[in-house]
Amino acid sequence: MLSSDKFRDECGVVAIYGHPEAEKLAYLGLHALQHRGQESAGIVTSDGLALRPYRDMGLVADIFTEDVLSKMRGRLAIGHTRYSTAGDSSLLNAQPIMVQSNKGIMALAHNGNLVNAQEIRHRLEGRGSIFQTNSDTEVIVHLIALSREQTLPGAMADALRQVEGAFSLVMISPDRIFAARDPRGFRPLALGRIPRLPGETQDTVVCASETCAFDLIGATFERDVEPGELIAVGAEGITSHRYARPAPQSSCIFEHVYFSRPDSMVFGRPVQTSREALGRQLAREAPAEADVVVPVPDSGVTAAVGYAAESGIPFRFGLIRNHYVGRTFIEPRQTVRDFGVKLKLNPVRTLLEGKRVVLIDDSIVRGTTSRKIVRMVRSAGAREVHMRISCPPTVSPCFYGVDTPSKKELIAANNSVAEIREFIGADSLAYLSLEGMKKACADGEKTTYCTACYTGVYPTNWVNVDEVHPAATTGKC
Ligand code: AMP
Repeated sequence: MLSSDKFRDECGVVAIYGHPEAEKLAYLGLHALQHRGQESAGIVTSDGLALRPYRDMGLVADIFTEDVLSKMRGRLAIGHTRYSTAGDSSLLNAQPIMVQSNKGIMALAHNGNLVNAQEIRHRLEGRGSIFQTNSDTEVIVHLIALSREQTLPGAMADALRQVEGAFSLVMISPDRIFAARDPRGFRPLALGRIPRLPGETQDTVVCASETCAFDLIGATFERDVEPGELIAVGAEGITSHRYARPAPQSSCIFEHVYFSRPDSMVFGRPVQTSREALGRQLAREAPAEADVVVPVPDSGVTAAVGYAAESGIPFRFGLIRNHYVGRTFIEPRQTVRDFGVKLKLNPVRTLLEGKRVVLIDDSIVRGTTSRKIVRMVRSAGAREVHMRISCPPTVSPCFYGVDTPSKKELIAANNSVAEIREFIGADSLAYLSLEGMKKACADGEKTTYCTACYTGVYPTNWVNVDEVHPAATTGKC
């Protein structure tokens, strides 16, 4: 086993083919996917002849002003929004990545994480390749450029067969867009369509990480890009190519638990349905004697609706979130306890005072936020605080594109539930069972999930052996 990359990107991608304002649709699509990454964003457009890129650090709406968009008019576009762990963020690593090679000019945007990128990079550097970024995504463009296949789709397929791990990709050449998913289907990627506009000869074809992006641009969801499928969209229409044999499907269950928006369809299933079912299942498995169900906004809201409906305990917004929190804030000299969390959340004393509260969140990672929130709810007068988490304990890092810290920082990797309860200061703490979570997300009905962050059992061999939970060495990989 080899080490995975230090990169664990959370990202959103979008692609547009055949629209007179493709740059604007890409921009709107990225805006709808902003929750998937807030560090940087980029769009590359094509007018059929040349590619026009623009990337910057920050939020989509701040980067893409009217002036910027007016200089990148195109009929084709791809876009990317990125969040990466601290220290990894720089404009150099922002996407899409654009390259010129003997296959022509192209650009690529990636959601997911390649687990054999370092190994490929060392091999290519040994042969003289010069890398410009330290992002795992760049190996794909090098492999495409170096491929002996003559056509661009052939070279793409060749490159994708060599990389391991999670990738939902969108790519653009001057006259085509492409979309591909890894053979296990770790991350989502949906295909949709906007009906032909007056004066146009074709429908507009769109791809996006989540279908919430389609709603904003008036597109209809058609189907998911299949695991192991490479789609090309050009003047000839949509062509589909199986570049790899199907592997056992392992779609990320955390997309349903936390990451995707509840108004999206992900892996063929509405996230709202899963998330509410997670809350209902949690209420059945871990009931609490309480007066109110309070979500940690926004991550716990939908599960809390399910918990309240199932338990019959009233749902109340006992914590209010300020949505306008930037990166850094000036703190008064007299330090405010839990300043960071207080900037974002404030308790509603009138709802909490004297109450037995069931606090619902989707996950406890390091435990530090939960500890501050429990303290905040108590200081607002709650009599009891019962913490309920709508997934099992997070015991292992993700190597497939979700930003989880290393094993030593994951509280559940090193502590029992009783010890975590003690640390966060709750009167009781319960997590959802693994089976309960899979059932709520309808495992086996349509989708088989990757649950490695809860089990330590990874679906690929290429993971950092130091990070793997002991269970992984006995489980199948
Ligand atoms: P903590 O236990 O203090 O590390 O933080 C738990 C909070 O982080 C919960 O409210 C989660 O919704 C949120 N969370 C969990 N996973 C992630 C992630 N990958 N990116 C950002 N926030 C997350």
